[in-house]
Amino acid sequence: MITPVRIACRRGIFEKLPLLPCSQVVLCKQLRVVSSSQQRRQFTSSNGSASKGYDVCIIGGGIVGMATARELILRHPMLKFITLEKENILAPHQSGHNSGVIHAGIYYQPGSLKAKLCVEGLEMCYKYCDDNNIPYKKCGKLIVAVNQEQASRLDGLYERGLQNNVKGLKIIGPEEIREREPYCRGIKSLESPNTGIVDFGHVTRSYGENFKDMGGNIKTGHKVTGFHMAKESVAGSKEGLKYPVTVVTKKGNFNCRYVVTCGGLHADRLAELSGCSPVPKIVPFRGEYLLLKPEKNYLVRGNIYPVPDPRFPFLGVHFTPRIDGAVWLGPNAVLAFKREGYGYTDFSASDLFEALCYSGLRKLVFKHLAYGMGEIYRGLNIAAQVNILRKFVPELKFSDVNRGPTGVRAQALGEDGSLVDDFVFDTGKTEIGERILHVRNAPSPAATSSLAIAKMVADHVEKKFEL
Ligand SMILES: Cc1cc2nc3c(=O)[nH]c(=O)nc-3n(C[C@H](O)[C@H](O)[C@H](O)COP(=O)(O)OP(=O)(O)OC[C@H]3O[C@@H](n4cnc5c(N)ncnc54)[C@H](O)[C@@H]3O)c2cc1C
Repeated sequence: MITPVRIACRRGIFEKLPLLPCSQVVLCKQLRVVSSSQQRRQFTSSNGSASKGYDVCIIGGGIVGMATARELILRHPMLKFITLEKENILAPHQSGHNSGVIHAGIYYQPGSLKAKLCVEGLEMCYKYCDDNNIPYKKCGKLIVAVNQEQASRLDGLYERGLQNNVKGLKIIGPEEIREREPYCRGIKSLESPNTGIVDFGHVTRSYGENFKDMGGNIKTGHKVTGFHMAKESVAGSKEGLKYPVTVVTKKGNFNCRYVVTCGGLHADRLAELSGCSPVPKIVPFRGEYLLLKPEKNYLVRGNIYPVPDPRFPFLGVHFTPRIDGAVWLGPNAVLAFKREGYGYTDFSASDLFEALCYSGLRKLVFKHLAYGMGEIYRGLNIAAQVNILRKFVPELKFSDVNRGPTGVRAQALGEDGSLVDDFVFDTGKTEIGERILHVRNAPSPAATSSLAIAKMVADHVEKKFEL
């Protein structure tokens, strides 16, 4: 018989089956509350004294922040955690405005964090959704070549996928393409049957529920504007500076021992606030989708992607079925005039000024001017975008689509104009910087990889911060 292990946390004492890796433990479903009110103990900090401070403050209520918060509290149920999010809901930005594709890990440089964490993250994501009743669909994906040059690049992609240990990959020809996607045309395709779709906003909120169920505190509407070292102990005890980092927000300050920032489009600014380098800077790229009219949804069964252009980090406009039955086409990639600028008219003089003053952006624009202008043109002119998509689904007509939602990508950019491709983590060298870990670049497929990223961040935190 397997004996349950008892876990004490601020919400009571729970039982779980042993030998499950922490990150795969599913709260609510597998954990059974043995006793709530009687055995609920007053929370005590790591050395046993009651306290108002927090052991770790996580900044950012997107999917990376909430996955990290959940992972940390799972590993350290007796410590005290808080998450601060500047908007009034969780997943207000990238995590709630994306394609919703659970990526398999094909595209990424073998050996990179992106490749490793995506392959690992996909498995963890499916398991998490199963255990938490979150709807997803393993509808698969075809990366379709429509000419010989793309077909030869497809072979390279297949090899890369194999090196990354992506399961189930297969090269297929025109007949099989039609079997899978009756309205899609192509001369060759790379099939990824394990690719799926999910609502990552839903997943983020579920991580948040897990975190709260374990006694974690989430404060939305709290924008972090600074960090400084506290002058005295918040507990007013003799312990001295037990919670030395003060996290400043307009609605009040929070004292803690350590901080992890997962700020997405503001990742660089949060890093700078703690004395870290302003580079790499985040440049916002808006991605605009078209929406297939519901009566035309039959044109698309699973994900249909182009063969990506290796010069750019984005995957190109694609057909993506949504978990609610809609079909999105896109996104393109145009420079946004505001960090969280979802519409053409959204404009922030300071954001734009900052972006244009950055040598990295000027170099990027200069290098890819023609491509960038093409993206803007296709963003304004739906017919031009539909023409690109018709190469894959020739039956698609201009009258079959409406303008759809938009998302804004946080793209980290080096000073030399290079797009930072891999996930980036950073800490400062100052007294305060030593206590803060920044997730500075978490681009796609970070939603897919969120649980794997969280494991890695928690490992970093444990190693660096000695919780
Ligand atoms: C158009 C688009 C399509 C994508 N498609 C996919 C896909 O199909 N599959 C996939 O895996 N990935 C995809 N991605 C990538 C994925 O969405 C992101 O990598 C992921 O959501 C990043 O999560 P995050 O938590 O780092 O960032 P975010 O979700 O942006 O969260 C950061 C949070 O920090 C908060 N914040 C920032 N500054 C402060 C502050 N000072 N104080 C308090 N809070 C602050 C913000 O309000 C925000 O909520 C896509 C992204 C975009 C934009």
